[in-house]
Amino acid sequence: MSRSAHPAGPRHADVLPEGHYTAPADDLNALDPKVWARTVGRDADGVVTVGGIPVTQLAEEYGTPAYLLDEADFRERARAWRTAFGDDADVFYAGKAFLSRAVVRWLDEEGLNLDVCSGGELATALSAGMPAERIAFHGNNKSPEEIERAVRAGVGRIVLDSFQEIVRVAHIAQSLGKRQRVQIRITVGVEAHTHEFIATAHEDQKFGIPLAGGQAAEAVRRALKLDGLEVIGIHSHIGSQIFDMSGFEVAAHRVVGLLKDIRDEHGVELPEIDLGGGLGIAYTSDDDPREPHEIAKALTEIVTRECEAARLATPRISVEPGRAIVGPTAFTLYEVGTVKPLEGLRTYVSVDGGMSDNIRTALYDAEYSVALASRTSDAEPMLVRVVGKHCESGDIVVKDAFLPGDLAPGDLIAVPATGAYCRSMASNYNHALRPPVVAVRDGAARVVVRRETEEDLLRLDVG
Ligand SMILES: *Cc1c(COP(=O)(O)O)cnc(C)c1O
Repeated sequence: MSRSAHPAGPRHADVLPEGHYTAPADDLNALDPKVWARTVGRDADGVVTVGGIPVTQLAEEYGTPAYLLDEADFRERARAWRTAFGDDADVFYAGKAFLSRAVVRWLDEEGLNLDVCSGGELATALSAGMPAERIAFHGNNKSPEEIERAVRAGVGRIVLDSFQEIVRVAHIAQSLGKRQRVQIRITVGVEAHTHEFIATAHEDQKFGIPLAGGQAAEAVRRALKLDGLEVIGIHSHIGSQIFDMSGFEVAAHRVVGLLKDIRDEHGVELPEIDLGGGLGIAYTSDDDPREPHEIAKALTEIVTRECEAARLATPRISVEPGRAIVGPTAFTLYEVGTVKPLEGLRTYVSVDGGMSDNIRTALYDAEYSVALASRTSDAEPMLVRVVGKHCESGDIVVKDAFLPGDLAPGDLIAVPATGAYCRSMASNYNHALRPPVVAVRDGAARVVVRRETEEDLLRLDVG
């Protein structure tokens, strides 16, 4: 099966997660803490609550569909990453997973840095007051305008992705009288996804400069000669939704090998190594993600061991988790519009959103869970497919799941773990109005990204 580009690289998309829902869970009313945000529970009436507020009340106030974001959980996860890596490493939150000005402020307050990969993300970060030196700028085709804006703002690092970009950034920095700190993104020939990784993946993808054929070494050689650049390190990002550390092990081995070659050739020990993001979260009860402190320990040990073997001082490590921080902290609340049993097949449950607010199921065959949220039910489980309201049969939100057999129009259902790559990849397909993001904390809710309106749509259409 071949699919379109994944944000982490083109070849991550077609590896399906293991295990499907073959049988209903023992208790359909239970909310598995693995897949739900930390303050989610049910109140005495059986209504799902987040941050102490029932979803029925949130639906009434903010409408559906809506992304409900557990602010306390977001801050806790961000802090856990920060604490796990300590002061000798840097955690950059990958803004592409979900970025808003509120999120930027939370990250700033919790001591995290921020990755952006477009002028729009950079503008959001700067407008919310993230100090520029804590911003990293990514992307395989940054425009000259974007580069200039980033250099002028004083971003802490630009991650260079091609030979042309090395020259382009050097030129722009020099013409502004600056020396830009940069990392060089290389592709180490490791492809990681979920429980598998391939150590000998072809470097057939748009990101980075291949280690193979001495290209990465040549890139460093050229960058070191340019006055506009201060080369601070090497960057590698190997995949997404990864549970198995062995891909990072091979990647670190290869990156450290390059650092050693650079030391031997130029007498320079580059001070930093960035191992990217891609750490997995639980979308269903079958997934078992690791805790940040385990990941930090594993990555630090790997890099330290490799550097000792190569007789290099251990460089400062940075990581770029996106999904692992924001993914579990939000869920999407929908209202059921129709329930259509297809004899001998399954029951189609149509909700008031769909592929415009969650494209991951259609794009990556992603798996999600779902729960009846506005009440509990003791009815027998029924096999359902949760679909949206778009004019497209691939408009699926949850492919296979069980919901109570008495599900009816007007019920609210919730799809957990939609904090990452849902609002940030949302579209206006069928002129859908993109849902709001409502942050909930300690019994208070506030809109951090408001719902789009028809006026918003029509304002862009100049007639
Ligand atoms: C996408 C991406 C990330 C974040 O990936 P997650 O799976 O959200 O952790 C980090 N770094 C780079 C370079 C990326 O492209």
